[in-house]
Amino acid sequence: MAIDQRASVRAAPSDPLSLPRHTVASTHTEGMGAPTIRGRPSSLARGEGLNDCEVSRRTGISRRTILDWRHGRAPHASRTRAAARGLCPRCESGPLDEPAYSYLLGLYLGDGWLSRDPRAYRLRIVQDLRYPNLIELAITSIKRVRDGKGTVNTSPRVGCIEVCASWQRWPCLFPQHGPGRKHHRSIGLEDWQDRIVGSYPRQLLRGLIHSDGCRTINRVRDGRYAYPRYFFTNRSTDILEIFRQACNATQIAHSTPKLDTDLDRPARGRRSA
Ligand SMILES: [Zn+2]
Repeated sequence: MAIDQRASVRAAPSDPLSLPRHTVASTHTEGMGAPTIRGRPSSLARGEGLNDCEVSRRTGISRRTILDWRHGRAPHASRTRAAARGLCPRCESGPLDEPAYSYLLGLYLGDGWLSRDPRAYRLRIVQDLRYPNLIELAITSIKRVRDGKGTVNTSPRVGCIEVCASWQRWPCLFPQHGPGRKHHRSIGLEDWQDRIVGSYPRQLLRGLIHSDGCRTINRVRDGRYAYPRYFFTNRSTDILEIFRQACNATQIAHSTPKLDTDLDRPARGRRSA
């Protein structure tokens, strides 16, 4: 198209990136695996006069669980805590809302990060206060990925708001977490993430653009013809490549302007009709 050879398909007016609800149960069994019953250790403690620490060391069961059992709270207390925490989709075959995860992955890769709390990891995503619908989308996607468990908090900042949620399992869902800035290290998707992103590439694009992108209206032919154009800017060349691959998967024309420096080079995409 004469307008822009690098973005040659006109966008339709409808929202190009929907966020359908589709929860699947993970079949992943690697890692820690589902908890197994290794026998009630209270008889061991009573018979040998061992304290909870020693029983824990010998059986591999947490002191907290042994304490529950010894006080007659098992297995209800352990189940209650596990239910409140939510099962990990990766380690404990918990459910995973894949469209919501794909969107949240886009937010995380774009401008999110994990911080370490004393008892859990905290997922932190900053959104502009001018876009309350994007703030609500971030909250909703976290709740759906957490299968309704836990709480999502917001902390106002100057001109923006931080959406955050604590969970021990965030590193399992975002294995890209590591020391240092994302653009200082290699970022790649694992096979299971590739599969989800391959199924829901529009949700990933939506998350990426909602965190590190923008949308403009391009007007040509004296304003008689207009179409939206999305820009995505990220300092990580690996994340830019993930953006491009998602554009390719959805047949969205995209281009990379050459006027920027290597680190600040944005990619832009326009939706196919
Ligand atoms: Zn896990």
